[in-house]
Amino acid sequence: MIPSFKLIVPSRIVTRITDASAASLRQRGIAAVITDLDNTLVPWKSREISEDVFDWLAALKRENIKIVIASNTMHPKRLKEIAERMDIPYILGVRKPWPAGYRRSMQLLGSTPETTAMIGDQVFTDIMGANALGLHTILLRPQLSTHEFIWTIFVRQIERLAIGYLTAQGRWPTPDAPAVPAHAVAASVGTEKSGGDAPAR
Ligand SMILES: [Mg+2]
Repeated sequence: MIPSFKLIVPSRIVTRITDASAASLRQRGIAAVITDLDNTLVPWKSREISEDVFDWLAALKRENIKIVIASNTMHPKRLKEIAERMDIPYILGVRKPWPAGYRRSMQLLGSTPETTAMIGDQVFTDIMGANALGLHTILLRPQLSTHEFIWTIFVRQIERLAIGYLTAQGRWPTPDAPAVPAHAVAASVGTEKSGGDAPAR
């Protein structure tokens, strides 16, 4: 079969970014995260940052896991604005899946491929490029919104075929079971049966 197929298989699949919890990253020896922007941290073209994303970023900070945004966006002003509101660095001109952007990101984070995770929603950019460099790769699926750049909509068709093929071959990872949402945990504390602790993952 086509050997490069393995380049699009992520190390892990999560259905929400919060499932890539700080504890679960630490458990895998991850000390630094490169993250995509559109349809990963915020919906496509959006400037809205959800409370979950802020909570997730705060948890990474507490665990001393560094993070940088690496986006292929053609709107650097929007990227800058979002990164500043999140209080995290970003890099421009990334051109995923080409390796230079990932290397610059790791340079900024002071990390190596072994200790770095890439999180994104697209297999042919975020995942493929990072796998090629030996990073830990986390695919967010489904993506935050179905609104996308027209080229991405086209690429998604190929993505779907490739995932179907890999699933049939038993080579596509099973998504992580969703963790209890942080806000649900907070709300349940002091109510019935405790159940307050989020699973350590
Ligand atoms: Mg994206």
